[in-house]
Amino acid sequence: MKPYLGYLPISVGLLLALVLGRPPQPTTQPALVGFDADRAYRNAAEVVGEGIPRVPGSPSHDRAGEFIRTRLAEFGRLRVETEPFDWHGLSYTNILATIDEGPDGSDPSRIYLSAHYDSRPGTPGAVDNASGVGILLESIRILVGRDWDKTLVFAFWDGEEDGLVGSRHHVRGLSQDEQDSVLAMISLDMPGWQGGSPVIHTFGKAWEVDAPRLVPFWLPHLVIASADRAGEPLRIGDPWISFHYQMGVRNMRVPFSSDDGPFLEAGIPAIFLSNSSFIQFFPHYHGPADTMEQVGEDALRQCGKTVIAATEALETLEERPQPGSDVYLILGGFVFTDWILRGMMLLAMVPALLAAPSTRVDRTCTVALLLLGGVTVFRLDDPFQPCLAMPLLLAYPLLRVRRSYLLKAISLAGLLPAFTTALFLIQVRVLFGEDAPIHLSPLDWITLTAAPAIFLFRAVQAEKLLRKDATAVDAGRTEQ
Ligand SMILES: [Zn+2]
Repeated sequence: MKPYLGYLPISVGLLLALVLGRPPQPTTQPALVGFDADRAYRNAAEVVGEGIPRVPGSPSHDRAGEFIRTRLAEFGRLRVETEPFDWHGLSYTNILATIDEGPDGSDPSRIYLSAHYDSRPGTPGAVDNASGVGILLESIRILVGRDWDKTLVFAFWDGEEDGLVGSRHHVRGLSQDEQDSVLAMISLDMPGWQGGSPVIHTFGKAWEVDAPRLVPFWLPHLVIASADRAGEPLRIGDPWISFHYQMGVRNMRVPFSSDDGPFLEAGIPAIFLSNSSFIQFFPHYHGPADTMEQVGEDALRQCGKTVIAATEALETLEERPQPGSDVYLILGGFVFTDWILRGMMLLAMVPALLAAPSTRVDRTCTVALLLLGGVTVFRLDDPFQPCLAMPLLLAYPLLRVRRSYLLKAISLAGLLPAFTTALFLIQVRVLFGEDAPIHLSPLDWITLTAAPAIFLFRAVQAEKLLRKDATAVDAGRTEQ
């Protein structure tokens, strides 16, 4: 039997996974025309004003709040409320504007769109987060012009920089029924930076609670599909290393989130949209150079169109989708859920299974790697494991192919995901130190260390054997 035939099932499986993981096609075309990036920019500039930090309680903070309320009042149709509260001796005010559910009152679910309007001391806070406020205000201008069956809540949070106190106060004030009625929450934080790329952050908030609370996959999936539809594609976490980001937020408890955090803690699906990511991190974060010069209209438009398209997509949902498994990976707009990952792992074992081992070392290595693969299929608790083990299994049979340097290079590439993931984990650890403890399961550790070790050992053995064969052949030739 040709060993290459072993790759047939996994190829078919991958195609199937891509078809099954395809984002749902929109039932309605979004009416995206109308978002005016120039208006969004001017809104943000008004919030920044003379660049004095909007520290809660300060005159510049109150002036920004006043501007938001004035603008909201101009839109009409909105029910505008303020939510004042004290925390640790300081006074804060959330500003909320609501478009109440449609005339028949049949759909009680609510969609939250939000941005914080405070800033840290020592920064004008243009990208963080006057740009988020500017985009939200401009999005509201578009959204108030349409009919909605669901209730839309636009929230301008206070005290985000003091530890998400505004959004946390609000969530705690909601009854259980009210929390359950929230379909999803989208936070805009640092979205207007012209040097970045649009991303969704899906932090787990695991450093404050026992269990990781990842956002259920349907929400980032829906937002990615909406962004595609709006012609503004975005990635999860990072434009370049989305794969590692998604591993990282599960396994490194990075202490970083926006106002989506308190919603996630309450079990409400929430994400945050941003233009700052791991590789393209906003260099003036919380610094004096976070001025309107950093804000770009393209960045504002990308985010605004995505927010509007995502709201339209959320409006079409009958109810909050089931959360599903925490084990998922979204790559290139495709969702690989736990069952797809399990199936693909099984299929990835076929080529190694068919590559009949010839020596004892060969047999031992193959059995060890297949065993590990089998355990991963049944004890899958993390997308980490299949993502690292699958390339190793697929590349494994190629190690025995004689004298093809191309195939040798391809087979060694099987080590690449394990290698780059290890690098990523080290780098996050260096950046965040003690704040980002590593939470790898025993199976994670084995997949990260033992599997590549077996693979490498086998590669060296195979190379030795091939060399020996070649010398034997050469010797045979000389004797003739
Ligand atoms: Zn912020």
